[in-house]
Amino acid sequence: MSPKKVTIIGSGNWGSAIARIVGSTTKSFPDEFDPTVRMWVFEEIVNGEKLSEVINNRHENIKYLPGKVLPNNVVAVTDLVESCEGSNVLVFVVPHQFVKGICEKLVGKIPADTQAISLIKGISFDKTNQGVSTEKRGGLKLISEEIKEILKIEVSVLMGANLAPEVANDNFCEATIGCKRKAEDGPLLKKLFHTDNFRINVVEDAHTVELCGALKNVVACAAGFTDGLGYGDNTKAAVIRLGLMETTKFVEHYYPGSNLQTFFESCGIADLITTCYGGRNRKVCEAFVKTGKSMAEVEKELLNGQSAQGPLTAEEVYLMMHKTGLDAKFPLFTAVHKICAGEMKPAELVDCLRNHPEHM
Ligand code: NAD
Ligand code: 13P
Repeated sequence: MSPKKVTIIGSGNWGSAIARIVGSTTKSFPDEFDPTVRMWVFEEIVNGEKLSEVINNRHENIKYLPGKVLPNNVVAVTDLVESCEGSNVLVFVVPHQFVKGICEKLVGKIPADTQAISLIKGISFDKTNQGVSTEKRGGLKLISEEIKEILKIEVSVLMGANLAPEVANDNFCEATIGCKRKAEDGPLLKKLFHTDNFRINVVEDAHTVELCGALKNVVACAAGFTDGLGYGDNTKAAVIRLGLMETTKFVEHYYPGSNLQTFFESCGIADLITTCYGGRNRKVCEAFVKTGKSMAEVEKELLNGQSAQGPLTAEEVYLMMHKTGLDAKFPLFTAVHKICAGEMKPAELVDCLRNHPEHM
């Protein structure tokens, strides 16, 4: 079998950090992978230069991962279709609001045997709620389902406690690959990401892996709010615990049959902890409370073009829970949306935790 060609679709903070890993593993396994990794770059001008040219000439993403060298076999390509042409493995890693548009541009260009893996933490909300598969779930669709539906290819997921700057520093961490066809697709995907400092476990329970990744961003917003209000680590631990309880309940309700063990993988409790302490969602939500500025303003001021997915995910989760009449059963998720939307004061969050169904 000829070596597989890999394309990374996305070049933000996580996309660039993962490009360091994929650039290295593809070089290490020449029988399995073509060493040239194409990375689709959403072109922009940074300090008067095209970002794609800076990446190709200086091997650094000066906007989204400054100070870190990208392997020279990672090649920035600005034409999306060209970046995927002839690829056997597509790694999706863009903020989730851009996925649909990206996939639609690729329709008819991706062979059915292409493997995809999504590193995207978010969900898709079908406002029309017309898809048969989403009807029972109030419009909820996983990002992997959205990619699969549009491109008709198999999609696995990779989630975990992986703050991109720390991964880019080669600090030891773990991640979980959720792969429904574990026996067929798992080994190659593991080879693509597993390194000494980025340890991969592959599990079959892909829906749970993906929902853990999406929902922890909502919990991290609650952690940011309590930080902004001046509460300490005990309160944050309560937020993490109640957030985990809501996550397990959410998964059980909308995607029944999960494996409890999955919540103990890196994608579960570990990602909740790291994001609630060190993530961007926590940071912008703390600033939202402390400054009184809008979420869009604090995101712009603090993240330099990066994106916090939690507030958007909270809205999507709220809309679908509301449609299925379940919002009262998920008070933490509901409160995060209402606070982000200005419908509830941040200070009311703790009252809502105090009266949580887990305490009744
Ligand atoms: P990011 O937050 O750095 O977002 C910026 C990226 O969005 C840039 O590549 C930019 O070019 C792109 N972009 C902006 N406008 C666009 C448009 N109109 N169309 C397409 N792309 C556009 O991105 P990221 O950190 O790489 O995050 C991608 C996904 O990975 C998210 O779902 C995130 O939750 C997840 N994730 C992030 C981290 C992390 O620490 N950064 C870790 C794990 C998972
Ligand atoms: P933030 O997007 O909140 O920075 O979280 C990154 C992440 O997913 C860590 O695993």
